[in-house]
Amino acid sequence: MQDCIFCRIVSKEIPSKIIRESEQVIVLQDIAPKAPIHFLIIPKKHIRDLSSCDSQDSSVLSDILMMAQALSKEVPGAENFKLLVNNGHSAGQRVFHLHFHFLAGKVFSE
Ligand code: 5GP
Ligand code: ZN
Repeated sequence: MQDCIFCRIVSKEIPSKIIRESEQVIVLQDIAPKAPIHFLIIPKKHIRDLSSCDSQDSSVLSDILMMAQALSKEVPGAENFKLLVNNGHSAGQRVFHLHFHFLAGKVFSE
C-alpha cells in the first residue's frame, strides 16, 4: 500500500533501522521508544490490524511470536519482555499496518 508508512519501510523506500528480517517479518527500532529496548515486529504483508487476520495469516502470526522469542534470546537485556498490540484507534493504534511492540530493558509496573 503506497500510503502506508510501514509498507514503505518494508519496501526500503523509506530508510529505517532494521534489527532483523525474515521471509515474512521485519523488526524495526521504534522511532519514539517507550522503553530502553523498543522494537516493532511487523509482517511484510500489509494487514490492517489483528482483527483483520484470518486463518491464512496463521503462519505469519506464528513467525511474529517466534521472532519475539529469538529477539529475547539474542538481544542483551531482553530476556524478559512485553509484547503488545494496539488493535484499533481507541486502543491506541496509530499506524494501521499490524505490528507488535517488543518492549524490554526495564522493570514494568503492573
Ligand atoms: P501504534 O500506536 O500504532 O500501536 O504504534 C505505532 C508505533 O510506530 C509508535 O510506537 C511509533 O513511535 C512508531 N512509528 C511511527 N512511525 C514510525 C516510523 O516512521 N518509523 C519507525 N521506526 N517507527 C515509527
Ligand atoms: Zn502497510
